Amino acid sequence: MTSLDTIVALAKRRGFIYPGSELYGGITGFWDYGPLGTELKKNIKSEWWRSMVQLREDVVGLDAAIIMNPGVWEASGHTKAFADPLVECKVCHKRFRADKQEEIDSHGATHDKPEWTDPKQFNLLTEVYLGVTEPKQKVYLRGEITQGVFVNFRNVVDSTRIKIPFGIAQIGKAFRNEITPGNFTFRSREFEQMELEFFVKNDDQEGDKWYQYWKAERMKWYVSLGMDKGNLRFRDHRDDERAHYARHATDIEYNAPFGWSEFEGIHHRGDYDLGNHKLTYRDEAANEEYTPWVIETSGGVDRAALFFLLEAYKEEEKRVVLKLHPRLAPMKVAVFPLVANKDNITAKAQEVHAMLKAKFMTAWDARGNIGKRYLAQDEAGTPMCVTIDYTTLEDDTVTVRDRDTMKQDRVNISKLIEFIDGRLL
Ligand code: ATP
Repeated sequence: MTSLDTIVALAKRRGFIYPGSELYGGITGFWDYGPLGTELKKNIKSEWWRSMVQLREDVVGLDAAIIMNPGVWEASGHTKAFADPLVECKVCHKRFRADKQEEIDSHGATHDKPEWTDPKQFNLLTEVYLGVTEPKQKVYLRGEITQGVFVNFRNVVDSTRIKIPFGIAQIGKAFRNEITPGNFTFRSREFEQMELEFFVKNDDQEGDKWYQYWKAERMKWYVSLGMDKGNLRFRDHRDDERAHYARHATDIEYNAPFGWSEFEGIHHRGDYDLGNHKLTYRDEAANEEYTPWVIETSGGVDRAALFFLLEAYKEEEKRVVLKLHPRLAPMKVAVFPLVANKDNITAKAQEVHAMLKAKFMTAWDARGNIGKRYLAQDEAGTPMCVTIDYTTLEDDTVTVRDRDTMKQDRVNISKLIEFIDGRLL
């Protein structure tokens, strides 16, 4: 199994993920995405959006503000209950989540006489203050993106023709004052979520049907983007960890180097959310009004980026290769002039580069020998490398080298876009 350190090092070296504010000594729980990481994250989000919104007729999108009227968080219960119990090591004053027994035990083992405080509740909402004159208004950075969907439920129903069962999808940043950020980006204080709130009739059969449906759909999505089924599993929440309102809850977990870890939660939330906000739905055809039930799928973009990187990383005999699904790969293709000192080859390669760039994220590399350039692109996960050589000048063909098989094809430039498109499915 790939170690976390290997991925942390690769992420830094190749420009996927850097520690946040590194120049000033860093800041715990915050990360910056570099040129390749930004593309990877963008691709994860657009694949999610394609499958959850674009290809469906029963889901619409939303992009709500990060800061909301604090009344939202009162009504949702977050100001009171969005809390993790926390214990403090009396020896060194480090804090840990009381529900993470393994972490507590392993920390305890570092002291001769470990001693802990009783668990205390710790609210995870991040407070910010608005306005320039006193008293400033205390508001919160959203701790989950979900509430923005619920408070716009009526707006969406009134401004579209959508009818239950339907969903509202959203992607956006969330902030949690996590007690123990760690495992690289896995537990951060600023992160991005991609969520679907799917509204169904308040009926047991409907609720169960859609809960099962979304469980299966979400698992399929990860597998369709190259996750090995053996590294994924469902883990149903135990009765003592399931929120009191949740009828069913399961996590999709990934077999990470730090143990099976939550990727995404799928929750049957009953009428809890719309009930909190006193929202109902009027079914004109059936002439009835009710509080819809919610099935939620809630995944993290940063955890997806991390787990896709872990999954894709392969050390082969003479190379390190990121076998990312082509749709997730940051760069789709790289263009190389065979030699850097022949003007006619460089000019032709620049022409091909300009043509491909208009269509795909395309890298350019003219340094060193071709073998080294291949290795650099393998490590960045680029699925194809196109080389312009002497034969190109004679017959307008180029070589296209495949990242995974390392096989080369000779392709006419006029057919190149079509050829690359065919490999990006
Ligand atoms: P955990 O038990 O790991 O704290 P959670 O059950 O609180 O997670 P949810 O509230 O269900 O998480 O959030 C939904 C998704 O948001 C998670 O599956 C995860 O992908 C992502 N997420 C939650 N907290 C974080 C975090 N601190 N850093 C990165 N991603 C997160």
